[in-house]
Amino acid sequence: MPATSRSVCVYCGARAGLSPAYARDASATGAMLARNGWGLVYGAGDIGLMGLVAQAAQAAGGRTFGVIPMHLVAREIGKRDLDAYVVTETMHERKKVMFMNADAIVMLPGGAGSLDEFFEALTWRQLGLHAKPILLLDTEGYWQPLRALIDHIVDQGFAEPSLQGLATIVPDVPRLESVLRAALS
Ligand code: AMP
Repeated sequence: MPATSRSVCVYCGARAGLSPAYARDASATGAMLARNGWGLVYGAGDIGLMGLVAQAAQAAGGRTFGVIPMHLVAREIGKRDLDAYVVTETMHERKKVMFMNADAIVMLPGGAGSLDEFFEALTWRQLGLHAKPILLLDTEGYWQPLRALIDHIVDQGFAEPSLQGLATIVPDVPRLESVLRAALS
């Protein structure tokens, strides 16, 4: 399959967070996806890191596909100028449409919503329901507490050690790009 038909689902904060590094990496991720010909699939919001990823992808000429539930269109400022903009009835439908339209999953810094999406992708992979790569962008070490939690879960006997290998933490956008290239080629 040519690289241009591949898409990457990005989960990230509806807020920008405290450090300017989060915004910087969100914009760099959007531009990087476009540069590689990978479509962006995301939650269709125009706020926080979500908005920055999409704006950067668009500015670099990339394809954008947003999925948002009806009840969040006003709150998350639905970004209607995307190449594809889908409004769902429920959060569950949103997650399903995003996941099904992506070849890889990336999580940037974010809050409980991003984690909800991430854990669904992780647990489905743990159950063998899919084999899509799951990557975490560790801007300024943001995901180290999550790594420690997953290690703790395994240490305490609540998951197989294989859980630790189901998601890959990458330190920066260049490394994210190279891991995605290897996974999507
Ligand atoms: P957050 O990481 O909390 O800023 O949220 C990022 C995105 O995840 C936002 O678009 C939220 O609407 C979305 N989100 C929040 N909770 C959920 C959920 N339970 N299922 C799916 N998406 C969610």
